Parts: sequence; C-alpha cells; structure tokens
Amino acid sequence: MAYAYDDQNIFAKILRGEIPNDTVMETEHTLAFNDIGPKAPVHVLVIPKGQYVNYDHFALDASDAEIADFTRTIGAICREAGIQPGEGGGGYRLIANSGEAGVQEVPHMHVHLLAGRPLGRMLQ
Ligand code: 5GP
Repeated sequence: MAYAYDDQNIFAKILRGEIPNDTVMETEHTLAFNDIGPKAPVHVLVIPKGQYVNYDHFALDASDAEIADFTRTIGAICREAGIQPGEGGGGYRLIANSGEAGVQEVPHMHVHLLAGRPLGRMLQ
C-alpha cells in the first residue's frame, strides 16, 4: 500500500525545529524527547527522522540502518534512564499506537517508552 505522509504533523514540525522539544537523545536517524503530557514518571517518545506514518510503514520501508539505529537508541535510553529490568529500574513498556484502532493521534511513527511506576495490565 502507499503511505501518505502529512508533513504538517506536530512531530514533523519538531524535527524541522519549528517547535521546541525536550530532547532525551538524538542520533543520525532517531530523535527521542519527553512527551508533553507524561503518563508516567518516564514518558519518552522515540521517533525516526525519516517520514514514516506508523510502525508498519517504518518496519516495511525504512533502511536497515534506520531500523538498527532506532532500536539501539531505545536500548541506550533504557540504560541511561536506569529502567532496565533486573538492574534496579523496575522495567518499562513500549507502545506504538498505529492507525484508527490503535488510536494514533500524531501521524508520524513513534514509540512511547513508559516507566517509573507500576504500569498495570496491558489493555483495559
Ligand atoms: P499517539 O496517541 O499518537 O500515540 O501519541 C501522541 C503523543 O504525542 C501523546 O502522548 C501526546 O502527549 C504527545 N504530543 C502531542 N503533541 C506534542 C508536542 O507538541 N510535544 C511533545 N513533546 N509531545 C506531544
């Protein structure tokens, strides 16, 4: 399928530097920043710099370098934030809301990294 990317979405504006963000980590292909409405003590949004609409778009069309960079960045944030399970941090949850059923609000691929409190069951 063809993915239509809206370059006026809020994360595209963040990537262009048109609106500010609280950066947690930046690499060649990836930007991670704190969510503006945190749902947990740690709530980081990890986004690719490339124009991908959602997770399946990224997984299917991104280069190996982009995917490796994205995944390694999540690992590095977990380590730096001290949230690795078994390391005293208590673990975390990754969420990638995608499309209508996933109730995705911002149409630029992103993964939520949540930690810092017991997060409850996965779905209600
Ligand atoms: P979604 O529902 O698309 O998975 O999540 C979008 C997330 O983006 C929400 O958790 C929301 O709080 C966050 N968000 C929306 N606008 C902004 C913004 O301008 N800056 C930051 N840092 N986060 C935002």
